[in-house]
Amino acid sequence: MAKEIYWADKLAKKIIKERGKKRKYVCAAGITPSGTVHIGNFREIITVDLVARALKDAGKKVRFIYSWDDYDRLRKIPKNLPKQNLLKKYLGQPIVDTPDPFECHNSYAEHLEKELERELPKVGVKPEFIYQNEMYSKCAYAVEIKTCLQAKEKIRKILNKFRKEPLPKDWYPAKAYCKKCKTDETKITNYDGKYSVTYKCKCGATETVDFRKSGNVKLAWRVDWPMRWHYENVDFEPGGKEHSTPGGSRDTAKLIIKKIYDEKAPVYQMYDFVIIKGLGGKMSSSIGKVITLGDTLKIYLPEIVRYLFASTKPVKEFSIATDEEVFKVFEDFYK
Ligand SMILES: [Zn+2]
Ligand SMILES: [Zn+2]
Repeated sequence: MAKEIYWADKLAKKIIKERGKKRKYVCAAGITPSGTVHIGNFREIITVDLVARALKDAGKKVRFIYSWDDYDRLRKIPKNLPKQNLLKKYLGQPIVDTPDPFECHNSYAEHLEKELERELPKVGVKPEFIYQNEMYSKCAYAVEIKTCLQAKEKIRKILNKFRKEPLPKDWYPAKAYCKKCKTDETKITNYDGKYSVTYKCKCGATETVDFRKSGNVKLAWRVDWPMRWHYENVDFEPGGKEHSTPGGSRDTAKLIIKKIYDEKAPVYQMYDFVIIKGLGGKMSSSIGKVITLGDTLKIYLPEIVRYLFASTKPVKEFSIATDEEVFKVFEDFYK
């Protein structure tokens, strides 16, 4: 019987076939740092790392980027965080502008980012980090924002195909962070067709900004994602179950990049959850019941952590033991 090809090699082959000959292949992963980045989120990173290595083994050059979506709004506050009342004042503002409740970093976003960035090299994972707050504040996406605003009708039609309640005619695929109250409780009321938008905020403020000079105009998530595929020329990016549902953000992103840029979406791979045996129930960042990569490394050697993820296909759920079964995992590894 022929030996089955290893899943990461299979994906590498698919990438080369679908994306054609390229000087360099771009493999991407990313997350909004809104709660502790846990071992389930790590699955996305290690999936990309394994595929990037498979591409390199096939003689290809690879750029592995990890996007910190820290310019996203603070939606809710994880229940396990201290200083809940202080944090509540920052709801609706960029996570990067939210103070660090542990008081050891410049922001809450940075606290979460550094926590993961410290651990990744221990398991041999070294991506190039991209901080979206920096990209937006230096107006890196001005041309892309213009393209998307000009294509707002096309985008609205794509998104409405999957919505129960259609987006209204005066909808725009972007929002501004208010210069006065800092939140995104705003609505674009006018677009000049080029680089200038006028917004009105719930707080009463109204302003006209040129988004080549002002980084406070941000694309909506479902538009932001395909825009960045285009901007970074992404060839491969996996996604969690929540993005992979029919009509989900992956589906609409695929249609948007085709319609707006006439480009094909990157090769995709859905990855399933990681269950922690001994934790009792599902991991959840919002209630703070999680196991991080750092926690896992207190139990397992780095090479065993890599082996646990590498030996299961991404589409399959698997569990990591934190109870007496740990010894069995060690035994299996050294067999
Ligand atoms: Zn901190
Ligand atoms: Zn405001």
